Amino acid sequence: MKCNYCEYEVKEDCKYCPNCGENPKTKKKNKIKEKLAKVDNSNKSSNSINSESLFLLWGLLGFFVPIAGLILFIVWNKTKPKDAKAAGIGALARVILNFFYLSVYGIFHFIVNR
Ligand SMILES: [Zn+2]
Repeated sequence: MKCNYCEYEVKEDCKYCPNCGENPKTKKKNKIKEKLAKVDNSNKSSNSINSESLFLLWGLLGFFVPIAGLILFIVWNKTKPKDAKAAGIGALARVILNFFYLSVYGIFHFIVNR
């Protein structure tokens, strides 16, 4: 039979390929997939840590500078939906707070000037 890793001709009962040292009967494809999955996972975890820490930053930026938040929301809507949402929510929260403040201010004036 042939080794699944290096195509080297090995005996049927051979546990380790004399050429590459791997088990000739195990499937090469699975090992490659495992390796890719591991790389994928490490990439994903490092990405999620980065985006999570930035997530708050964009939310705060949107809150303190609603126009910037709105622009980021529009620009990132397709490329970075999570960051876009955070910036959008921050901007929206600030706008709602402003409306709330204005309405309270308006009611207060209405009562005082009556
Ligand atoms: Zn081999």
